[in-house]
Amino acid sequence: MSQFGEALSAPANTYGMINNADIKFGEVTNERGEKVELTRGMYSKLIEDEDREKRKEAYKAYYQPYLQMKNSIASTLAAAIKNNVTTSKIRNYPSALEKGLFADNVPKEVYENLIKATKEHIAPLHQYSELRKEKLRLDELRQYDMNVPLVSGVKQDIPYDEAYEIMIKALAPLGEDYINTLKHFKKSRYFDVRETPGKRSGAYNLGVYGVHPFILLNHQDDLDSLFTLVHECGHGVHSQLSSQYQPQITARYSIFVAEVASTVNEVLLINYLLDKEKDEKVKRHLLNHFIDKFRGTFFTQVMFAEFEKLTHERAEQGEPLNVEVFNTIYETLLREYYGDTIVADEEMKYGWARIPHFYRPFYVYKYATGFASAIQIATNLLKGNKETLHAYLEFLKSGSSDYPLELLKKTGVDLTSPAPIKNSLAKFKQLVEEFSSL
Ligand SMILES: [Zn+2]
Repeated sequence: MSQFGEALSAPANTYGMINNADIKFGEVTNERGEKVELTRGMYSKLIEDEDREKRKEAYKAYYQPYLQMKNSIASTLAAAIKNNVTTSKIRNYPSALEKGLFADNVPKEVYENLIKATKEHIAPLHQYSELRKEKLRLDELRQYDMNVPLVSGVKQDIPYDEAYEIMIKALAPLGEDYINTLKHFKKSRYFDVRETPGKRSGAYNLGVYGVHPFILLNHQDDLDSLFTLVHECGHGVHSQLSSQYQPQITARYSIFVAEVASTVNEVLLINYLLDKEKDEKVKRHLLNHFIDKFRGTFFTQVMFAEFEKLTHERAEQGEPLNVEVFNTIYETLLREYYGDTIVADEEMKYGWARIPHFYRPFYVYKYATGFASAIQIATNLLKGNKETLHAYLEFLKSGSSDYPLELLKKTGVDLTSPAPIKNSLAKFKQLVEEFSSL
């Protein structure tokens, strides 16, 4: 079996080459009116542009190569799924899904409950699509209208030192030790703060056992950068505490629990900012920011998780997988999750072609369970419960000393019950209602 390893990873590698190396996006118009080739970096900015024509142009240019290569990409994805299904059978797993969950010792009910509970409480997400259409004053809501902020004209200038001060105040519910660790991070200069030529984009925490965390940022002095700082410090302190309290073999935490530590911080931050903000417009902006974050980290990932489940089940039943099948499944899911408000462009149903995570089977659901767990923990921390704080700090010190579900249980989050998922969905409902009423 292991001798086939390299051959079996060919579909994922081929897709990686297509998606990273060979891909050529369409052209967009720059500020000087010249046509230039779209890059991913440009796309993430342009798709949030207040000028609808710019968003549309970027959207069409972005999807162009995926539509052109739809058959090739369908074939790499189908092959990756079939490889996974066949390997699971040979290795005697009851299903490909159970093979995917085995390493984290997660029962398949956790995965199924996540999807089921989300779909039962999907109405606020539909409501949010309608709210978007209304706020943007559109006759038709299109997919390229889904990322533009609904509250325009809020520009917040937050220099790095000020951002750090805000973080220190916002994370006060995590206790004195946590705050002292953060102060120590800054004083010891564990951060690479500014963008420099040739520097990797985005933000990243690297914990090094026996040394300290290294945190890479590309700080832009804005609200997004403040959230990124708080997020990465969540990973940083998690690394620091796990390194301090665990032997090297269990010091590294799994992906499953990693995003809990970062998201708890983000929830505490949004709560702090909303609490002290007097300006209604800024308040709306903050709420909108959090709702969109919720949508991207929770709902979209659950939808992806369901796509993986449905396509693997098809392969397990010996049914074919091709462009039409992927399109139909993807479009149906988009409708179920986002409602009928969105008017479909031809591009919309090809979303499956642009997701590299589909080549890492049954992985994205962890973003959603992590997010839901974090919402639950942060809610309890904000009630000022000392036991929750103690349990949460213990969790941050525990690395990978037990399976993720067991580690989370100690913080009061039991993902084998639908409660954490339902509580998060209730929180989302509340956010949409609050935003709507403002
Ligand atoms: Zn993260």
